[in-house]
Amino acid sequence: MRDETKCVHAGYQPKNSEPKMVPIVQSTTYVFDSAQDVSDVFDEPTKALIYSRFANPTVMAVEQKIAELEGGVGAMCTSSGQMASLMSILNLCKAGDSFICTSQVYGGTINLFAVTLKKYGVECIFVDAYADEETIAAAIQENTRLIFGETLANPALSVLDIEKFAKVAHAHGIPLIIDNTFATPILCKPFEFGADIVIHSTSKYMDGHAVQVGGVIVDSGNFDWTNGKFPEFTEPDHSYHGTVYVENYGKAAYIIKARIQLMRDFGAYPSANSAFLLNLGLETLALRMERYCQNAQAVAEFLETSDQVEKVIYPGLPGSKDYALAKKYLKGCSGVISFVIKGGREAAIQFMDALKLISIEVHVADIRTCVLHPATTTHRQLSDEQLVSAGIEPGLIRLSVGLEHSEDIIKDLSQSFANL
Ligand SMILES: *Cc1c(COP(=O)(O)O)cnc(C)c1O
Repeated sequence: MRDETKCVHAGYQPKNSEPKMVPIVQSTTYVFDSAQDVSDVFDEPTKALIYSRFANPTVMAVEQKIAELEGGVGAMCTSSGQMASLMSILNLCKAGDSFICTSQVYGGTINLFAVTLKKYGVECIFVDAYADEETIAAAIQENTRLIFGETLANPALSVLDIEKFAKVAHAHGIPLIIDNTFATPILCKPFEFGADIVIHSTSKYMDGHAVQVGGVIVDSGNFDWTNGKFPEFTEPDHSYHGTVYVENYGKAAYIIKARIQLMRDFGAYPSANSAFLLNLGLETLALRMERYCQNAQAVAEFLETSDQVEKVIYPGLPGSKDYALAKKYLKGCSGVISFVIKGGREAAIQFMDALKLISIEVHVADIRTCVLHPATTTHRQLSDEQLVSAGIEPGLIRLSVGLEHSEDIIKDLSQSFANL
């Protein structure tokens, strides 16, 4: 199946006289015929459903769809994108370990990695996404467990050279985890370029309608956990009567460990209702991504012609420093544009306040066009130094182009520029 078909059909194929739509299984628990049946599931928790803190049929249908879209062996949904990032790391790191993250990632990710995880003894070492292989390799230490980066960074919109990072990671026997939120599997499939694990905030394009907060982790099944660096995959897990993940679950070892260890203990699993809504969004994902790309391209070209704009950052513009990377890694540059308005912070605020159709929202990737000023909102917690390395100037506005007609979006931007 191609992506368009997977969006509509993957994950749930009803049989004779079953519901056409994936049913919302609003049940915390599941029944068993015998005491033996229930105790068996505690030895082999993937055999049957036990409890909706870590597995539910509605959520699992969506997980299957996303796994197929990314080309992975399995996926696990989480209650938010933040939780997907966190669990993707905690599935490999314990206190005393470190990992590498590119500087150009989502502000919430930077805070989680640099501030919160540090308190629990896991150290994040940041490297510039444009660093050469030697510089990246030099940051890897004995206790470094993985490299993390973002396909199309929010809001810097830099395009990650995934193959470069995969090469360095694999040369050191560690996996590459990619946050593919802005690209979605429609525009980029990081596994095809050597990434091992993909995460998403499903709150963005996958949902598309701003109705549910969620996340997902997808496992490519390609990483070799038996290389000696990951004993928790090759030695018995005593919380499951000695389960050895690579022996019991083969290629799905990482994603099953995440579910039956971390999700069982943390319980950050989405509700069936949220998964149902996410699935509705996914059904039109391929179609919507195409239009987001077209609309954003038209708006980016308009912004480039405005004399009130200092700089437009959109990798689909031929003058962009990431144009070549975008051509290599992306089928389209998605719907988010960053631009620097002349007049800095104050002009940015005044411009945003004068918009009529376009709303101010702490969100992106909605079907409705929206704007945000990262320096005073999502990235407020970052120091000026971190702001610069995340590619955020004081006059930077993040514009998430929606599915209205591009001419109406441009008309609103024009009237607001005229008002400055
Ligand atoms: C929004 C976002 C997140 C966090 O996701 P939530 O669903 O808001 O928790 C992570 N990564 C990227 C790239 C994002 O845009």
